[in-house]
Amino acid sequence: MALFQTFVGLEIHIHLLTKTKVFCGCKSAYGDKPNTNICPVCLGYPGVLPAVNKEALKMSYMVGTALNCELSPHTLFERKNYFYPDMTKNYQISQFSDPVGVNGWFEFETDGGIKRIRIHDVHLEEDAGKMIHDGNRTLLDYNRAGTSLLEIVTEPDFSTSEEAENFLQSFQRMVRYLGVCDGNMEEGSLRCDANISINKTGKGLGTKVEIKNLNSSRFVRKALQYEYKRQAKTIKNGGKIVQETRLWIEEKQKTRSMRTKETAHDYRYFPEPDIPPFVPDEMFMQSVNDSMVELPFVRKQRLQKAYSLTEEFAVFITEDKFRADFFEAVISAGAGAGTGTGTGTGTAVTGTPAPAAIAAIAATAAKWLKGETVKQLGRRNLELSDSPLSPIRFFSLMKMLSDGTIHANIARQLLELTLDQDEDPEILLERDVLAGSDDDAEIAEIIDSVLSNNPEAAVQIQEGNTKAVGFLMGQVMKASQGSADPKTVRILLMEKLTNKK
Ligand SMILES: [Zn+2]
Repeated sequence: MALFQTFVGLEIHIHLLTKTKVFCGCKSAYGDKPNTNICPVCLGYPGVLPAVNKEALKMSYMVGTALNCELSPHTLFERKNYFYPDMTKNYQISQFSDPVGVNGWFEFETDGGIKRIRIHDVHLEEDAGKMIHDGNRTLLDYNRAGTSLLEIVTEPDFSTSEEAENFLQSFQRMVRYLGVCDGNMEEGSLRCDANISINKTGKGLGTKVEIKNLNSSRFVRKALQYEYKRQAKTIKNGGKIVQETRLWIEEKQKTRSMRTKETAHDYRYFPEPDIPPFVPDEMFMQSVNDSMVELPFVRKQRLQKAYSLTEEFAVFITEDKFRADFFEAVISAGAGAGTGTGTGTGTAVTGTPAPAAIAAIAATAAKWLKGETVKQLGRRNLELSDSPLSPIRFFSLMKMLSDGTIHANIARQLLELTLDQDEDPEILLERDVLAGSDDDAEIAEIIDSVLSNNPEAAVQIQEGNTKAVGFLMGQVMKASQGSADPKTVRILLMEKLTNKK
């Protein structure tokens, strides 16, 4: 048994993708000119009245639903009092006693299998502005002040830093699937603080240390690993862990103390007098439920079961919602085209294994999406979502490939042509690829006549004198009036000479 036990919890902040801020009508955008999206409400002028953004509430309830929370029938906004240089009001409108959701849970995959962690609460609040340090002065940009921020607090249920990293990646995928956050950690749309306490095994929670400034899921893992070592060493040496907030310093690969931690009591929360509690009615809850989508983890398991996809392919397909939708649309096109029993996507919905013909298309589609398609899109600097490759076009390609109409080389060529010419693969096959073969027949005829006119050159080549190849090629090119493709001429010519031998 390990000497120490680790308890890690995460506090995640996500910027909701609302068009406007959470308590006023200012534009919510990243990267605009400083202090252009501001008004008396988000600057906290006296006498102004905030009003809650309905869209932000809806997205918050969606996240609460996805995290299996008990949703509040009466959610309350409160003032969290604190001195914020980047928030002119010196308080933040947040939630404390009755947040959007409580007592939830979330399941995700780790190397050791499926892990379930408990969610303490989900609450909606406003973000602060941004301080920009410029030499010995600090500039303030209030564009971000008042933008919708949803905070998700987990229980300290992670026992390793890898679990925390895996969770964060699954969580990021989930909010992207829901369309409530772009999940971009570099731009700060998804931010994470981690708390860690360690104690001798069996002794329960230790003293909690919070780590801030974690701008990627990798930093979360590294900072937690560092903290574990630091705390274990302190305890082994008979020292005491101080309850504090520390910063992760990436350049030094270590954490450093920032301040001793405030307790909730210090913030003197009290109800925001200008915002009445929000009571979701049936229509609101209906719109929340209507906006829910199948979450990535569930979708991955379903697709794996229905199409016997390998772990690698299932991860790749469900990594991105557009890609997963595309993949399933390809399968539906297959079912609609009469491949299989015509049960359509109904098969996949129930998660029962699909008929063999559909499973075959699925396997080919997964392989070709991950391999050749990614490669060809990358070469053209295209995303699947803005490429001319539609699920229907991809399906015809896969169908021709799996029923043997075309072989892999032609399929590759057709995929490229589809991307470049924005045309259906069947048309391209007729028009460009097979038409090319007719040209081949013409060239073959020319080669035959050149060879019969120059029998001694052919003999020389067959005896190993390759110099005559150039001569013969020149004759063919001349006879075709330069229209033949030299590469094709060479291939066909060599084929003929070898066959004649
Ligand atoms: Zn405003």
